[in-house]
Amino acid sequence: MLSLINAERFREDFDMLARIGATGDGGVHRPCWSPAHLEAQRWWLARAAEAGLLTRTDSAGNCSAILPSSISDAPTLLLGSHTDSVPNGGRFDGALGVLAALEVARTLKESGIYLPVHIEVIDFVDEEGTLVGILGSKALAGTLTAEELRTPRGGRAALEAGLARAGVTEAGLLAARRDPASLAGYLELHIEQGPNLARRGIPIGIVRGIVGIRSFRLTYHGQANHAGTTPMAQRVDAALGAAAFVLTARELVLRDFSQEDAPCTVNIGQMRLEPGAFNVIPGKAELALEFRAPESEQLNRLEKMLLSLAEVTARQFGLKLTVEDAGGCAPTPLSARAQAACAAAADSLALAHTTLYSGAGHDAMSLAPLTPAGMIFIPSRDGISHSPREYSEWDDCVNGTNVLLRAALNLAGVS
Ligand SMILES: [Zn+2]
Repeated sequence: MLSLINAERFREDFDMLARIGATGDGGVHRPCWSPAHLEAQRWWLARAAEAGLLTRTDSAGNCSAILPSSISDAPTLLLGSHTDSVPNGGRFDGALGVLAALEVARTLKESGIYLPVHIEVIDFVDEEGTLVGILGSKALAGTLTAEELRTPRGGRAALEAGLARAGVTEAGLLAARRDPASLAGYLELHIEQGPNLARRGIPIGIVRGIVGIRSFRLTYHGQANHAGTTPMAQRVDAALGAAAFVLTARELVLRDFSQEDAPCTVNIGQMRLEPGAFNVIPGKAELALEFRAPESEQLNRLEKMLLSLAEVTARQFGLKLTVEDAGGCAPTPLSARAQAACAAAADSLALAHTTLYSGAGHDAMSLAPLTPAGMIFIPSRDGISHSPREYSEWDDCVNGTNVLLRAALNLAGVS
């Protein structure tokens, strides 16, 4: 019978990593390639070396701990997550996954079990996007473009400063691609970051896929005019169309798009009125619209509904509407084989499990097109994350890590 992970050793690691970049309120501040993040990477590599694992850092700055197979040209099963955090984030997001994977590698090494694959634990850089977003995994997948590095979401200055601190170059980022034929799969343990598992009292979530995102900039054009002298009935007020859109969009998504295991969401994250003064009727209202869904067909239906709603609300208030596509990404289905491996692992440990979609992005999005990729979620208290209040019960962390251990063996073909 296969052994379980060493929960005490795992806890010790968890507490040590949580101290690096600690903010004093239970959270951590470890944006990618900040001094605290670089210290976390160094500590993690040293911890892996102590355990007798091989360590390496690739040209993108991703850190790895390797337990080699006795077959030198065996494919590599990646187990990973990220040690970077959002500014003032929590101590579980990402950290849990890299430490769980490290503990899995140590347990496998101690068990002396025959491995037909190399096990590589990987700590991907900039998952959280303070610089670019899922940067290390994109670099590994070979999907990172020079254009993304020219216009990073965190700004060029932040990227250049981070690269300099880490000793990584743009050429290095663009050269970190691995041959998909060398990979046997990718598994990641992560906190759910939503309320579903905790609310339903289920310890293990098996991720079916990661939602796709589309975004549009909607502009309602009215007529700016005097706020006191223009009769109410004669105004062409751009804010009215925008306000009606925001309220009705929420209603329709709640009414027509299943919320149970298919988390379709709509968000209007920015509203800008012009000219923007107490005493002027808004002549222009600009909205930043984003919506997410796990299936392309749902994204299509959402897009059709929301854009026709925008037309209707414009007409209703005598406004003109312009729509600008602001990009997005397709939904990422995760591997059925990886899901089955996770389910079998949970069953073998008598842990209840359910499938669910991830409403948040993860490195698995980069890996899934190349290799069977799977994710295991554990409950997040009150569904809170990206906050010092992020919390998961330790028993859930241990259970999730044992599922990761067995799922890894299953995916590697060891029964
Ligand atoms: Zn994360």
